[in-house]
Amino acid sequence: MKVVKFGGTSVADAKQILKVVEIVTSDSTRRIVVVSAPGKRHPKDIKVTDLLIALANAVVAGKPFEGDLAAVVERYAEIQRELNLDAGIVAEIETDLRRRIQSRSDNDAQFMDTMKAAGEDNCAKLVAQVFVRRGSPARYADPREAGMLLSEDFGNAQVLPESYDHLATLRDTKEIVVFPGFFGYTLKGQVATFPRGGSDITGSILAAAVKANVYENFTDVDSVYAIDPRIIPDCPAIAILTYRELRELSYAGFGVFHDEAVIPAVQAKVPICIKNTNRPEAPGTLVVPQRKYRHGEVTGIASAGGFSSIYLSKYMMNREVGFGRRLLQILEQEQLSFEHAPSGIDNMSVILRSAALTPEKESQILHRIRQELRADDVTIEHGLALIMIVGEGMRYAVGMAAKACTALAYGGINIEMMNQGSSEISIMFGVKEADRKAAVEALARALLTVPAKPTC
Ligand code: ASP
Repeated sequence: MKVVKFGGTSVADAKQILKVVEIVTSDSTRRIVVVSAPGKRHPKDIKVTDLLIALANAVVAGKPFEGDLAAVVERYAEIQRELNLDAGIVAEIETDLRRRIQSRSDNDAQFMDTMKAAGEDNCAKLVAQVFVRRGSPARYADPREAGMLLSEDFGNAQVLPESYDHLATLRDTKEIVVFPGFFGYTLKGQVATFPRGGSDITGSILAAAVKANVYENFTDVDSVYAIDPRIIPDCPAIAILTYRELRELSYAGFGVFHDEAVIPAVQAKVPICIKNTNRPEAPGTLVVPQRKYRHGEVTGIASAGGFSSIYLSKYMMNREVGFGRRLLQILEQEQLSFEHAPSGIDNMSVILRSAALTPEKESQILHRIRQELRADDVTIEHGLALIMIVGEGMRYAVGMAAKACTALAYGGINIEMMNQGSSEISIMFGVKEADRKAAVEALARALLTVPAKPTC
């Protein structure tokens, strides 16, 4: 049996939804269908989730919101009209949105999740109706009844372990199950969402729970590419990669698959196949626990901007027991998670996502580091990009870092930071954001080899 997830562009309008129905019904093992909220129909369009966020913000700010509400309803109404569905479904969607608005408590984060979840929830109800109308028995699955339980971290929730046993029973459903992605319920019965793009996580959890043979993730590209095609347009497609490779690449900006979605599939050893709704015949990219690789082969190079580095120095830091812990404790107390913390004898850097660092937090941290750690010097640098070179074949291969550094040196790019994880399947560089594209191009020229034949 297969669990199949369709992203926002795959359910963006009536034409796309018909492709979904065609793909699912063409293979009787595609039993559980996870949907995102309708996404962009064209590059300038707005995703339903973003429309819902605008609506929620208007409600919270006490501003008029009827226009925002109508914009959301219209996205579904357009699909209803084009597919000639029962008009009642649009009225139900509007009632649902108004009920959510009415349910607002003083917890804004929780309210925001209740509103965001409406995108997927209503889309799943609508898609289930399309299946039925086209003669395929299908039913919408309510995540509350199905037992998708999440932690109370609104907007950033994690699945609770007991969910897997609850969700396993979906395996026995006779009809096609249409399950909304992106959200679940806390133990107190409140709606909570995963981070943005989190429908991938829902699909992975369901695939693990029902012990699917494969988790198919349908999106709008033919495969995962070795490099972001916006940087190098004709870069090679990756036919096969391991979970670890995908996770490391997704972490550093490979937008095709959510990095947190890899974990449930890994634990249950369910292979992931990334495919294109617009070209389902294309082979796609297969993600597996292990694969054959060539010694020294680089699978992909990912890059992401939006990082900041706190740099501090203190003479004899290496002799001060507990220094690193106290530094990280300051970040913990300020509710900041860090990405990397390379250190030297008398200095240490901590890399964080810039989005989390408000100007107030920044000055508070600098003040506390100076006061509490008595650092000689503390500075924050913004505008950093991380570049991740990833490949199972890099393990035990001598000279990978040398080749990468040489390529960057010849490209005239200054390396701000460098880190090779103990797994040895990745090397990470920090460079100035302005150098990101040139750095990726230089590394691609020096390191990328032709990939293996498609096998997905
Ligand atoms: N609709 C949500 C978002 O735009 C979740 C998803 O599409 O996976 O982030």
